[in-house]
Amino acid sequence: MKIALLGATGSIGLQTLDVVRNTLQTAEIVALTGYSSIQKLAEIANEFEPKMVCVADSAAAMRLKPFLKKPCEILTGADGLNACAAESTADIVVNALVGRVGLLPTLAAINAGKDVALANKETLVTAGQLIMELAGEKNVRIIPIDSEHSAIWQCLQGNENNKVEKIILTASGGPFRTWEKGKIATATANDALRHPSWSMGAKITIDSATLMNKGLELIEAMWLFGGTSYQILIHPQSIIHSMVQYSDGSVMAQLGLPDMRLPILYALSAPKRVKTNYPRLDFLTCGNLTFEEPDAERFPCLSLAQYAAKTGGTLPAVMNTINEWAVSRFLQEKIGFYDISELISHAFSAYTVKPLHSANDIIEAEQWAMEFVIK
Ligand code: NAD
Ligand code: MG
Repeated sequence: MKIALLGATGSIGLQTLDVVRNTLQTAEIVALTGYSSIQKLAEIANEFEPKMVCVADSAAAMRLKPFLKKPCEILTGADGLNACAAESTADIVVNALVGRVGLLPTLAAINAGKDVALANKETLVTAGQLIMELAGEKNVRIIPIDSEHSAIWQCLQGNENNKVEKIILTASGGPFRTWEKGKIATATANDALRHPSWSMGAKITIDSATLMNKGLELIEAMWLFGGTSYQILIHPQSIIHSMVQYSDGSVMAQLGLPDMRLPILYALSAPKRVKTNYPRLDFLTCGNLTFEEPDAERFPCLSLAQYAAKTGGTLPAVMNTINEWAVSRFLQEKIGFYDISELISHAFSAYTVKPLHSANDIIEAEQWAMEFVIK
């Protein structure tokens, strides 16, 4: 299997490389993209020897070149990302980019007839309708990497998918699950970056603290698995990764230790089960599995995302853009924790939602959102 890996230097990217290095040794990396981590990208490129790599711009390309031991095409910017996504020899594109930059390369991959293993949930949040339609037209698969969606997909295998009654999305609850609202209001980026069960990139870690991550995942799930009924359940141990309830009352759950290599491996090998030496879940020592209702009062981002999910059209793209901007400001300690949800809420009041017909409608919605936040 030949893989084009977008976002190779990030958390999911590096874990995908771990899977290829240690578990799927017949897989080959034909294209790799990084952004500003030049040293890390050089190390990876020297190990995996892809045909092409992509970095942010020509200055980054100049810095990378002397570190490369084998000749390899160096591409740059958005065009370079699209070219890597459409690389002719790749069988599958792993999209491990973070944020809305992931959308256009996903479209490029689908247009080139490639299956896409998608970690970049923001793509389905903003453009789920376009992505799923185009994927259907081009007969390519959109394969989930997100652990909840991988879990749901696994629970759907071999079952009558038209008999699904409810999908239960689990959430860890993040680092502020037990904090009072007043204390959350003064939380710093460092507090929010201390995720209790998963080690991930900074943006998704903040999204997990606000519960926006679960809202984004709800929209992601609706595009992947349809508009059935959904329940969001806080499950602090992060052992049950999600569940599917069928019309006979039976519930299928997928369990495992919180280790993203598992959903990445499954995305690249399903329906086969590949033997691994990853740590095993031990029911005698893992402790109790508990469940709670999410608290909309302390975590308003979740209700905002549920509203965007119900409204559809260009609203999820506006929400996603404002959230991405606000999270980066929060990480720089320029705004407070609840400013993230406040900004989104104000934008919802000011914005007139439009139907979604093309990628252009998304670009316009994102432009509106950027003007809204920087004005
Ligand atoms: P990360 O920040 O660790 O890595 C992001 C990657 O994207 C890096 O390789 C970076 O160089 C690249 N990148 C960033 N900005 C870019 C730009 N403007 N142009 C080109 N490349 C750019 O992020 P991550 O935690 O690996 O998350 C990646 C995606 O996977 C996100 O959508 C996230 O929600 C999703 N996801 C992550 C996890 C996890 O465990 N990390 C779990 C589930 C889903
Ligand atoms: Mg997830």
